[in-house]
Amino acid sequence: MSNLKGGCLCGAIRYSLGSSPTELRACHCRDCQKASGGHGAVVTIVPRDKVTLEKGTPRIFKGKAASGRTLSRYFCGECGSPLWSHRENTPEILALRAGTLDDTDHMKITAHIWTKSARPWSYIDPKATQHAGQPEGPPVPTK
Ligand SMILES: [Zn+2]
Ligand SMILES: [Zn+2]
Repeated sequence: MSNLKGGCLCGAIRYSLGSSPTELRACHCRDCQKASGGHGAVVTIVPRDKVTLEKGTPRIFKGKAASGRTLSRYFCGECGSPLWSHRENTPEILALRAGTLDDTDHMKITAHIWTKSARPWSYIDPKATQHAGQPEGPPVPTK
């Protein structure tokens, strides 16, 4: 399997992904809206050891999430692109921003979370799983 590649807008951060996830999760919490400047975050859940930094060092912003947990958000210090995040107590599981991947044609949003704070102009696929808030349990990598 060839590694997927990704990176930030300016190219200061590049990484490779040693797995091939197919499922994406859209988060509509206010924090993800602020952090993205858009409708929220679209992520894929991957084990940290599958993500290899090829170039650069991301900066980290730690904030209290709507769930009450502390979330570490990684981003490029040069261009500000969000890259991935993890919960304080599960640093081995990353929520990787799907839009930073170079190729995601084989991926699909299968779940929407925090739909209760979704903006009225956000599209939520009625066929996808929906959670009003945070789903129970830790995030699980899809592959
Ligand atoms: Zn950058
Ligand atoms: Zn969120």
